[in-house]
Amino acid sequence: MKWSPEADKAMQKVPFFVRKKVRQKVEQYTWDKGKTLVGIADVKAAKKKFLSSMSTDIKGYQLDRCFGASGCPHGAMSCEGIMEKAEAVFMEEDILGFLKKEVKGDLKYHHEFRMSCADCPNGCSQPQIKDVGILGAVTPRLTDETCSQCLACVAVCPDLCISLDDNAKAPSIDFDACMMCGKCINACPSGTIDEGEKGFRVQLGGRLGRHPRLAMEIPRLMSELEVLEVLKRALAFYKIHSKNGTRFSKMLRPEHIQVIIPAK
Ligand code: SF4
Ligand code: SF4
Ligand code: SF4
Repeated sequence: MKWSPEADKAMQKVPFFVRKKVRQKVEQYTWDKGKTLVGIADVKAAKKKFLSSMSTDIKGYQLDRCFGASGCPHGAMSCEGIMEKAEAVFMEEDILGFLKKEVKGDLKYHHEFRMSCADCPNGCSQPQIKDVGILGAVTPRLTDETCSQCLACVAVCPDLCISLDDNAKAPSIDFDACMMCGKCINACPSGTIDEGEKGFRVQLGGRLGRHPRLAMEIPRLMSELEVLEVLKRALAFYKIHSKNGTRFSKMLRPEHIQVIIPAK
């Protein structure tokens, strides 16, 4: 689908967090009219139609995932299972019903509760700025296998966490700085670096907007079951404290994190 410069310019005025969705709607609208070029008239007509149907498009939550499932080589831990079950949790908790009851006036996209999952710490789906953010992770573990001193692990680590001194038998890993991406594990030909713990990093309370904030991270890896428990607890907290559509991130303080973490 092509866009005229005028139509393209008009799209720049749409807030970026809904721009992709609006762009898809405009293209669908234009396509349905049998056209392959989006003009300014199509943008205006689609906008009118889109705005009138917006409240029926809102489902109360947004659940996104990175494109790791389509073959990205960087995946550390797949979020596939979490995505399916999280969708069921949102439905069970009836977030849409809650918002309809709580919010005065029309529901808008910015009222929706947001969760995003990424299969590795690169976080392409931006979990760091969502109410609940999930990052697939795997920790490296040093084994007794003889290191061939090839330095592949040192070269591959994006965070410069690995060093190998001249007389050392094996590398040192700075676990405090390690982002748990697993690249060194895949690069090591001798098995000296192997998989340690696998799971999910969980981040809570991120947002953009007038007062942006990066999400706070729960200080341990979690299993799929624990992630879903965190989601349920976060939604319970949200439903108790959110008034008239207040975002989860606006009410979440560091001291609340303990309430949301399930016991190990
Ligand atoms: S978050 Fe990681 S696995 Fe997902 S698309 Fe980005 S690089 Fe690939
Ligand atoms: S897991 Fe990733 S960040 Fe951690 S040491 Fe290995 S390559 Fe570096
Ligand atoms: S730990 Fe593995 S990748 Fe690193 S230098 Fe030794 S053999 Fe090479």
